[in-house]
Amino acid sequence: MAVTHIAAPHITISDRFMRQRCGWCGETLLEYDLTRVAVLAGQDPTPATWPTGALVTVDGNASWTAEADRLPDDACAVNPLTLASLTT
Ligand SMILES: [Zn+2]
Repeated sequence: MAVTHIAAPHITISDRFMRQRCGWCGETLLEYDLTRVAVLAGQDPTPATWPTGALVTVDGNASWTAEADRLPDDACAVNPLTLASLTT
């Protein structure tokens, strides 16, 4: 089942471990051990990350972003606590 999250800034610790989570629910969107990222010689080994605030839809191993003026119905932030404010 697809769920749309809101990308928080990514964080890298010890110049090795990179993680990007949903800023709302904490779901892990990206996670890398940078010592295990292989690229061609001369290329930047830094993995791509989601722009902060991007709406990132995750469905299994696939993920993508989409422009939206409002949270989609499958957003993690749409729950009984927030739904009332989104529909008024
Ligand atoms: Zn989320």
